[in-house]
Amino acid sequence: MKPYFRRIICLLCALLALSPAFGAGAQPCLSEEGMEKFTFRELSIFDTEITLIGFAPSREAFDSVCEEVFDALRYLDRVFDAYHGDAEINNLYEVNRLAAEAPVEVPEELFRLIAWCKEMWENGLRSTNIAMGAVLSIWHEYRENGTKEPDSASLPPMEALQEAAAHVSLDDVILDPEKQTVFFSDPALLLDVGAVAKGWAADAVLPLLMERMPSFLLSLGGNVYAGEPPLDGRSAWAVGVQNPRPGEWADRGGAILDIMDVTGLTVVTSGDYWRYYTVDGVKYHHIIDPDTLMPSRQAVSVTVICKSSALADFLSTTLFVLSWEEGLRLTERIEGVEALWVLPDGTVHSTPGIDAYSRYLKPASGGNAP
Ligand code: ADP
Ligand code: MG
Repeated sequence: MKPYFRRIICLLCALLALSPAFGAGAQPCLSEEGMEKFTFRELSIFDTEITLIGFAPSREAFDSVCEEVFDALRYLDRVFDAYHGDAEINNLYEVNRLAAEAPVEVPEELFRLIAWCKEMWENGLRSTNIAMGAVLSIWHEYRENGTKEPDSASLPPMEALQEAAAHVSLDDVILDPEKQTVFFSDPALLLDVGAVAKGWAADAVLPLLMERMPSFLLSLGGNVYAGEPPLDGRSAWAVGVQNPRPGEWADRGGAILDIMDVTGLTVVTSGDYWRYYTVDGVKYHHIIDPDTLMPSRQAVSVTVICKSSALADFLSTTLFVLSWEEGLRLTERIEGVEALWVLPDGTVHSTPGIDAYSRYLKPASGGNAP
């Protein structure tokens, strides 16, 4: 195994060890008796629909867990926000505004997230680069304008993208773990943690959920975390993988392409159908290939299953940018990671281990068509 992959695995183990959910120690054991299923939905956090389903002894017990979980998610949304300033916390927007002048002290969650993404980058995983903010903010602006006024939607000029791409090195993000500060040695650099924020947030509330309501399903847009099995007799949670082209590929199960039966795992999907705008009849989505500076056309969706939602989120973006063959080789080197690719021509590929979860696709090693 190459040394950098060994280091990545160590990083991942460290990440998981932080979570009591999967570390050693007693896990709460609940009986089905007296447990009811509750659901709560919220639309204002992380710019997506967040749903928490859980088995609890009463509505009050569920509500009290919900309140804590959603307060924590709301706080993390503020911390990771690159587009709005915050009067109370040095969030990502404030870091981008101030870190080229002097080191900025940041909340622990933000420091740890940046440090982890930087380590992944240093270890060779560079398709997800959180220092690509200067490039991504240009796409963001053109997408926002193009969505508001579709008739005048246009593409960002390549010169502007290339100019921004000269300022995307994570070597220029200087971290001081003792002071918990972030400093940019390149004044034109900007951070954007959109590729990992939701996964990181799901992992962050995991200890609380495992302690207070271990039988749960938490969904943050395309990021789903399934806790201990549902207390209704089923042995696992059923997590749908969306059909990326329900109109064109209606023969493939309509809106749902597959169902993953999972417990104690996260299922994270990056797709070209979440956020996009249209220019001259062509859709331009939000996952940008650092080499071409254009939306990646390698896949239309990539789903990753593993124990860490931050890792799954990071990898879903990474695999979306790589060819599926390169991606498969990468997943083979990281223990406990399964993936499913849907390519633009409609073919589906997966890691062989997807068999353990997938209800409909039972691909032979290396993948097959649905
Ligand atoms: P979603 O946020 O829709 O779940 P992803 O997890 O794939 O999808 O993240 C996409 C977001 O990540 C984009 O909106 C953008 O902020 C950021 N992003 C896009 N491309 C990259 C990239 N190559 N590296 C790092 N961040 C990226
Ligand atoms: Mg992602």
